Amino acid sequence: MEKQTDTKVACHRRIILFPLPYQGHINPMLQLANLLYSKGFSITILHTNFNKPKTSNYPHFTFRFILDNDPHDERYSKLPSQGLGSFARIILFNECGADELRHQLELELSKKDEPPVSCLVTDALWHFTQSVADSLSLPRLVLRTSSLFCFPIYASIPLFHDLGYLNLSENNHSDYEASVPEYPLLKFKDIVKITSNPQGMGDFVTNMLNQMKASSGIIWNTFKELEESSLETLSQDFPTPSFTLGPFHKYFPASSSSLIEQDRTIISWLDKQPPKSVVYVSYGSGARITESEFQEVAHGLANISLPFLWVVRPGMVTGSEWVESLPENFKERVGDRGRIVKWSPQQEVLAHPATGCFWTHNGWNSTLESICEGVPMICSPCYVDQPVNARYVSDVWKIGVMLEDGIERVGIEMGIKRVMMDKEGEEIRERISCLKEKVNVSLDEGGSSFQSLNNLVDYISSF
Ligand code: UDP
Repeated sequence: MEKQTDTKVACHRRIILFPLPYQGHINPMLQLANLLYSKGFSITILHTNFNKPKTSNYPHFTFRFILDNDPHDERYSKLPSQGLGSFARIILFNECGADELRHQLELELSKKDEPPVSCLVTDALWHFTQSVADSLSLPRLVLRTSSLFCFPIYASIPLFHDLGYLNLSENNHSDYEASVPEYPLLKFKDIVKITSNPQGMGDFVTNMLNQMKASSGIIWNTFKELEESSLETLSQDFPTPSFTLGPFHKYFPASSSSLIEQDRTIISWLDKQPPKSVVYVSYGSGARITESEFQEVAHGLANISLPFLWVVRPGMVTGSEWVESLPENFKERVGDRGRIVKWSPQQEVLAHPATGCFWTHNGWNSTLESICEGVPMICSPCYVDQPVNARYVSDVWKIGVMLEDGIERVGIEMGIKRVMMDKEGEEIRERISCLKEKVNVSLDEGGSSFQSLNNLVDYISSF
């Protein structure tokens, strides 16, 4: 499954990387760090104590913990760790983190016993880091962990807000289902899901985009052939150098940076299921659903005759610890046909021959992981980039189906049937298999991602 990179002789330069402390951001940043390490760079990771990855999995990296080292500072301890509320932590650190980051970087830059620092690589959402890097004359590269195509949509959030698009109510059904004039591919119901705080999100993305423009370059976890037209538009509007060298997980799996222990017992259960028969259900690390949606999922899965593997992350269901609100008789109805786990080794599950489809929230990592294994998707996006990613999956690439009416049992059964039993599902599988092939070509020697990785290494070496 994993691609090998040419390991170059160490060039005695160091790169400092600073991920956003959430699973979907930590995974690609640590994968990128491994890629750069394989190309000969020394690696220092700056991280918060919140959601710190298992450092013993990275003995070849140096970790420094910053921003929330004071256990008595109540500003951090009270912040929510899941769902949209977790955004408050990002806003807080962007507002108050500059002095501490500058101090830490000064220490790193002054170390005589370590290789000199070539550049800082930060998550795009750490927009405060650009002015800090500028003040130290340190080049800053940005890692954007989502799709390229959601970029112009994010840039349009202030406009959507001014036009009143983001305040539409589900009750006004005809508006809700209509296409957005500026982006006919998207429906109003897609863009209202992006944020519940249009003013705050609009201000945030404006800062993020300005500081991306001011950076020395942008690294995207995608591959050219998947998003060619978006890449062309971007390079016209955005002169900053761009590097599309993904999908990173094809080089290094996400398992080593998993914040929750992955339940590996399910692999032997998957081994006993018929090929392409299992419905894999997971909504990633942050999305939350209501208790009634949780029960609808349970009914939908109980009503189909297929085996399923369902990831229910503790805290995922609002108001519940874990699976207390499962409907009565669920376990009796389902028996050994269904398994519920707290967290799965997702890449291995998707690569398993028994997995037939992925019912996903369309986080960007999950979407890429599904494409790379050629697994058709059922889309239930929750927020931020997910509704846009899901629309591309269902309506542009046509490699999945959208649950248009949200999470309710009849739609769920129909969605699963379309993908797993109907002719439409076979066509979807053919299309996603073609994309899987394109990924492999892009990563092979001479392919677009392979080339872009080399370009990035040359670029960083030129600093
Ligand atoms: N993941 C995992 N086990 C699970 C569910 C998810 O290891 O049970 C990993 C998944 O492989 C992916 C990441 O968690 O790399 C989730 O990232 P994504 O961008 O899809 O969603 P987010 O968590 O940011 O909403």
